[in-house]
Amino acid sequence: LKSPYSGGHVEVIVGPMFSGKSEELIRRVTRAVIARQRVAVFKPALDDRYHVSHVASHAGRTAEALAVPDAQAIRAHLTGEDVLLAAPVEALDVVGIDEAQFFGPDLVPLVLDLADAGVRVIVAGLDLDFRAEPFGMMPELLARAESAEKLTAICTVCGAPATRSQRLIGGQPARYDDPVVLVGAQESYEARCRVHHTVRR
Ligand code: ADP
Repeated sequence: LKSPYSGGHVEVIVGPMFSGKSEELIRRVTRAVIARQRVAVFKPALDDRYHVSHVASHAGRTAEALAVPDAQAIRAHLTGEDVLLAAPVEALDVVGIDEAQFFGPDLVPLVLDLADAGVRVIVAGLDLDFRAEPFGMMPELLARAESAEKLTAICTVCGAPATRSQRLIGGQPARYDDPVVLVGAQESYEARCRVHHTVRR
């Protein structure tokens, strides 16, 4: 249960969609709660797949979490500027962050500040976007973390370990230049291996 690192540090969990990143974050957070450690979990408010106040895995496990609009909101929450919901960082042992890639570059200095302040920070997110390109600031988080775990899903075509997220629009592989938000499009994602991941040019 005790992590092998003394004091504050950063643990990153990455992989494609359906690889169990949320499950693994929930597992680590649940163990910390059982150990009576003080835990706060955050996720971006734009993702309300299941509940506003929970992190949820595709398999249905949940942990309490606060949905916030941006990294600054996490900082305000932890420094007590957010008077309604403040949980001062001195009073926390563990901070979990899910869907980290959506927080953007501001998340990196926040995560490092928390670790410097003695907090165990567990960050889960996509390492690659639907094009299989590194996702925003995730490479920097990976580089600066004390520990990093790459999870795989199962390729929906062949059953091999999947490292990539296939974006489908109207059932067809998305194009490299397709906008990230496509209004009115029938969009879905599947886990795929390197061989079966397709990006149309
Ligand atoms: P992530 O946070 O990485 O998207 P989740 O923790 O939400 O992953 O969900 C992982 C769960 O998704 C697995 O335990 C499994 O029950 C389910 N699942 C659905 N499709 C797949 C797939 N193609 N490969 C692996 N797991 C899948």
